[in-house]
Amino acid sequence: MRKITIAVDGYSSCGKSTVAKGIAKKLGYLFIDSGAMYRAVTLYCIHNNIIRNGKFNDTDVVIAMDNIHMEFKLNEQTHQSEIHLNGKNVEKEIREMNVSNFVSPISAIKEVRDRIVILQRKFRNANGIVMDGRDIGTNVFPDAELKIFMTADENVRTQRRWKELDAKGQKVTMEEIKNNLGQRDYEDTHRKYNPLRKAEDAVVLDNTHMTLEEQLNFALKLVQEKAES
Ligand code: C5P
Repeated sequence: MRKITIAVDGYSSCGKSTVAKGIAKKLGYLFIDSGAMYRAVTLYCIHNNIIRNGKFNDTDVVIAMDNIHMEFKLNEQTHQSEIHLNGKNVEKEIREMNVSNFVSPISAIKEVRDRIVILQRKFRNANGIVMDGRDIGTNVFPDAELKIFMTADENVRTQRRWKELDAKGQKVTMEEIKNNLGQRDYEDTHRKYNPLRKAEDAVVLDNTHMTLEEQLNFALKLVQEKAES
């Protein structure tokens, strides 16, 4: 089967990374979680007092980009790729609520997006790539052979996210999570520069009532069709 580029976009906590990882594992493709890169920038801004008292200045964030080095490294035990920020594994830390609360306004800064998109495009390779995010099919890889746009009921997404954080020992209320998801979706779809929207040629995957196996079968069938066409 021909190796292709797959873009998985959609709303927050729809299970995009889970499906993308599943496709990558099954087909031996490279998986890149593009949201992790925006989260790493946000974490850096929190650690370096660029975000202070809930506020930041866009120019300070853009200047800080020169001091941010990000790379994905394979965790030999879990066989998952994990993000490292300036040499430190921050895979867990970037998922915490304080990062989730600021990542959308940080990722709305044009210069931040421009810098990150350059890095994301470098991951494209001949052995196949599946990248998940918000603007992969519309902006990062507008010529991707397969684009999937994921969505799910808001309450189902909130519950899934709560379970995920609870399993990691993070004590957050359902209400906090619901507010965060709603806020991020609003900001991500309304920002000026490369907002989240469905690419015209994307296939919609609403997984509200689907098991992971059903989602993977759906996606893998699409990959097969595209790779053989
Ligand atoms: O995918 P994840 O929920 O980790 O993404 C965190 C945030 O990063 C999103 O809410 C969005 O603001 C931003 N993001 C983006 N473009 C992408 C991926 C993520 O703006 N391609």
